[in-house]
Amino acid sequence: MKLRRTSAVAIAAVAALGLAACGDDGGGNGGGAAAGGEKVKVGIKFDQPGLGLKTGATYSGFDVDVANFIAEELDLEVEFVEAVSSQRETLLKTGQVKYIVGTYSITDKRMADVSFAGPYFIAGQDLLIRADDTSITGTESLAGKKLCSVKGSTSAVNVQKEVPGVNLQEYNTYSLCVDALKSGAVDALTTDDTILAGYAAQDANKGKLKVVGNTFSTENYGVGVQKGDTEFCNQVVTALQKFIDDGKWEESVQKWLGPANYTPGEGNPPTPTCQSA
Ligand code: GLU
Repeated sequence: MKLRRTSAVAIAAVAALGLAACGDDGGGNGGGAAAGGEKVKVGIKFDQPGLGLKTGATYSGFDVDVANFIAEELDLEVEFVEAVSSQRETLLKTGQVKYIVGTYSITDKRMADVSFAGPYFIAGQDLLIRADDTSITGTESLAGKKLCSVKGSTSAVNVQKEVPGVNLQEYNTYSLCVDALKSGAVDALTTDDTILAGYAAQDANKGKLKVVGNTFSTENYGVGVQKGDTEFCNQVVTALQKFIDDGKWEESVQKWLGPANYTPGEGNPPTPTCQSA
């Protein structure tokens, strides 16, 4: 559908210039799109190892695999841009990105602004602490502790519901929280267990940080798309289902989360649908 529309626009533009719009040009454009496709910006995380990580000019992780598979299926040429948690709805609403694959939980609140194709993965919220800390065993032991999470995340919202009055600092990114945890500025970082496992497994953090292993939420990851773009949302759902059915989901999970000793919990892989308010 997309390709046909692109060709139609190209032909109309040529016609408007008073040039002869021949059928071959239209076909040529279509062929070009199939090889390279429509250029789109896609939001991912840049600092979450195993999920979305930018290393020089290279992007890697499970979410990156998901984003690339969708692009291949839909003949899109991707340029990745960073989508920090608090900016995701804005990036989609203003059309700065076509879609977001960034540990993005499907919530009713977010569906006031965006639609989701998903879930494509189910995670749970946990705590990351220093390896030598025996005082934190779960949310029940957070009284008097300094906690870090990220602005605009469900993690920050959930933990304040779970532990009313908790001493929470909200940073822009999770990697800043990791630095604060290592320096002793905070006692714990809370977010999805997937993200925490990735940090704990990084060479620089091995033996220094550990995941508590006591989840207290369900995080259904969806691909964020523009609100009400049902056609595109359904195309993404079809791509996600193919990713799962072809065994690519399992392969990617093994490749990127396996080294962190992360095993997906119950309900994985889920069945994606288009979710819109
Ligand atoms: N999955 C949660 C969320 O969407 C936490 C991870 C994140 O901030 O990306 O808010």
